[in-house]
Amino acid sequence: MTHQPRASFQSPRFAQPATFMRLPHIEDPHGLDVAIVGVPYDGGTSYRPGARLGPREIRAQSSLIRPYSYFQKVSPFDRLNVADTGDVDAPPVSIEKCYEAIDARISAIAAAGATPIVIGGDHSISLPILRALARRHGPLALVQFDSHIDTWDEYFGGKYFHGTPFRRAIEERLVDGARFIQVGIRGPMYGEDDFDFHREHRITMIDIDQVKARGVAWTIEQIRRVATGPVYMTFDIDAVDPAFAPGTGTPEVGGLTSHEAQQLVRGLAGLSLVGGDIVEVAPPFDGPGQITALLAANLMFEFLCVLARAESHQG
Ligand code: MN
Ligand code: MN
Repeated sequence: MTHQPRASFQSPRFAQPATFMRLPHIEDPHGLDVAIVGVPYDGGTSYRPGARLGPREIRAQSSLIRPYSYFQKVSPFDRLNVADTGDVDAPPVSIEKCYEAIDARISAIAAAGATPIVIGGDHSISLPILRALARRHGPLALVQFDSHIDTWDEYFGGKYFHGTPFRRAIEERLVDGARFIQVGIRGPMYGEDDFDFHREHRITMIDIDQVKARGVAWTIEQIRRVATGPVYMTFDIDAVDPAFAPGTGTPEVGGLTSHEAQQLVRGLAGLSLVGGDIVEVAPPFDGPGQITALLAANLMFEFLCVLARAESHQG
């Protein structure tokens, strides 16, 4: 394939401006199989902001990742033309204007035939991505890793923030509720009626106790049963326990381990994936060693390998 990460034997891993995995920075998505794109926006957060700084830090931490997956048995850059297309210049002052900018960029990436992998940003950014991809592929299946349901109705009278994107996505018929599965849900809620919307739209929810009691393999089976047809993956880093991923705005204790998160993403291989995002990494709250951004970068690599395994040809 044309685009490869910068060779680490010629250019040290800590040199040069940071791009995802030291890939070339190419804004034009034409000719790409996969387009990495950042959305540095956190105007949709309800508690601690900081996810606007996620793309830069995740790119920096991705410098260490080597190009072959021993566990997935694939070299993604030998099968897919991947580049870092830079960031959406998301206006920080208006969520509607931000949504327009994201929708336009993702639409352009999809029209060029590339699959987007998006680096957030807070979880509100998933809605305009889903708008762009559903316009192209029809109603989508959705796999959401998260500690929160994000299907609440509104906040301070606002319809758009990081707690509502998937209710809006169902209302706008971007996502099919019967093909929507949430994994890792936990934490105190407002009440049992938080789940009325799930029942009404036949959304499948796997809470953290089910993941821990029944295991990763069982959880992957449930995902594969529900997520048929064109599917989008959204990974909110707060699905992972704050012991492993402290750098996030609304942490919930008692979550996935880093290893479980890696295994769950690997379990998506074979699904008809049309894109994915990783959101809610807030570097100002990260721990020593930037472990949250490092984990997010590695989960993106696992997702990229999943996409590469779908390619039958060898590069
Ligand atoms: Mn979320
Ligand atoms: Mn969350």
